[in-house]
Formats: sequence, C-alpha cells, structure tokens
Amino acid sequence: MSYIGRFAPSPTGPLHFGSLLTAVASYCDAKANHGKWLVRIEDTDIPRIYPNSEMHILSCIDAFQFEPDSEIIFQKDRLDIYEQVLEQLKQAQLIYACQCTRKMLGSNHIYVGTCRDLNLDFEQQAIRLKVSDQQICFDDRLQGQQCSNLKYDLGDFVLKRRDGIISYQLAVVVDDYLQKITHVVRGADLLDNTVRQIWLGSLLDYPKLSYMHLPLAMNGQGQKLSKQNLAQALDINKAPELLSAAILALGQSMVELDQPRIMLQQAIQQWDVERIPKGIYLNDIYQ
Ligand code: GLU
Repeated sequence: MSYIGRFAPSPTGPLHFGSLLTAVASYCDAKANHGKWLVRIEDTDIPRIYPNSEMHILSCIDAFQFEPDSEIIFQKDRLDIYEQVLEQLKQAQLIYACQCTRKMLGSNHIYVGTCRDLNLDFEQQAIRLKVSDQQICFDDRLQGQQCSNLKYDLGDFVLKRRDGIISYQLAVVVDDYLQKITHVVRGADLLDNTVRQIWLGSLLDYPKLSYMHLPLAMNGQGQKLSKQNLAQALDINKAPELLSAAILALGQSMVELDQPRIMLQQAIQQWDVERIPKGIYLNDIYQ
C-alpha cells in the first residue's frame, strides 16, 4: 500500500496536548504502514495567526524528534497556487461571487444560494463553491460511515473570503492533492469539514483519500482541549514525558522514557489502530 500522511497545524495558537495526539497518531500510522509523513503549516488565515506559534510548532517538531520526509511547507507561500485553482473552478462555472455579509446571513447556518445567479463581479467579494443535492458518504477508519447532503446541511460554501483570505477548505484540498497525500489522520473536530473537502476534490478530479478522525481530548471539565479553552502550550523541555502520555492516551502499549526518537520508534512498532479509545479524558497535568 502506498501511504503519504501529514500533520497540518494552523499557527493560531501554540501546539497543545491535543495537537501532540494528532502528530503522534499521524506519524505512527504513516510509519507503521511504511509510509511518508509530511508537515504543512496552514497559515492562510493571517488575522488569526498567533504571535510566535509558528516558531513553537517548529520547535516542537524538533524537540519531539519527529522526522518529516520532506521539507515543511507554508501555505502563505502558496497563495498563487490556490488562486490558479479558483480560476479553474471559475472557468468551469463551479464558483460565484457572493456579497452577503455575515449580518445579512444572520443565524441561518445554511446558505440558500442568494447570490448564485446574480453573476456578480469577483473583485472584493466572497467566493462560494456550488454544492449539489446529493448524499456524500465516506468510511472513517475510527468513526465509521459519515454522510451529508451539502445542499441541505450547509449550502454553497466559501472558498475565499471577502477580505481575500483563502479558506481552509480550499487550501487543504489543493495541498493534500499536490503533496500526494493518501491518508488523513486528524482530530474529530474536523470531521464535518470532510464531506466539503471530498466534494471539492471530486469536482477537481483529485483522487480520494482515506480518513481517520481521532477522538478529541477532553479536560477534567469535559471541555474539548483547544486553543479557545486555553489548553497549555506543549513544554519542549518535557518532550519524553509528554510523548509517553500521548502514546498512552492513544490507547497504545507503554514505551519506556528515552530520547523521543527512540520512543517514537517503539510506538511505531507497537502501533495498533484498534486500541485507540472512543474518548480521551485527561487529568489536570496535560490540560
Ligand atoms: N490546520 C488544521 C488545524 O490545525 C488541520 C487541518 C487538517 O488536518 O486537515 O486544525
């Protein structure tokens, strides 16, 4: 089986224990399948970039001794590529400009296609991708079959914001394709983005990917461990201890404390997806 996996953090805050779980699971799954593992920094959303978090991500990759199989790429250097794909979608009449503001849309989470047939100029407007009335399903390796009809669950969705920012959906699909990614391992908070990405990928004729969405780590208060809940930044001086805790939280057999590289080698040898628990609850130390 050919396998190219990736870890694709956004520098919207420092990496936390939940990010480490994703890094470890995507790394071990790739390496246990004799695959490659790539790192991509998803920094298109400039206003949300958190000072120094890009540095923190890179120091963590180093300190935890992950070994990416090719140079780390940064999405902010690739904006021309996303624009080219938008142009391709425009030629195929799969996207359109939308002038609806957040205020106009109000609390309605399903976009009803108000601007679809208005033929607005693309300058200074949000760009939406047309969706169709069809059930799209995929089999997640951990979460089972997932289905959605984008027309009724979401509506035409944004690929480029009015402020010019390329959306995560567009950048992730294009880069997974260009980096020849075959397997996506990431947190279950991204599960409901997947059908959008499958839809966009199918319109562009990109190959299908395999998906595995990890259960989210919860803190003692039952909240998802996230940057919004101020999860603690990973302490690069405690790499072996944190790595050991991450491997255990993923339900894997214990590895002895050692240099991170050696611990990861051992975790790869023992890697067993079947052992990943349905829920991950952490004690106070790792919140
Ligand atoms: N950049 C996304 C995040 O940090 C993850 C993207 C992905 O794995 O598809 O939440």
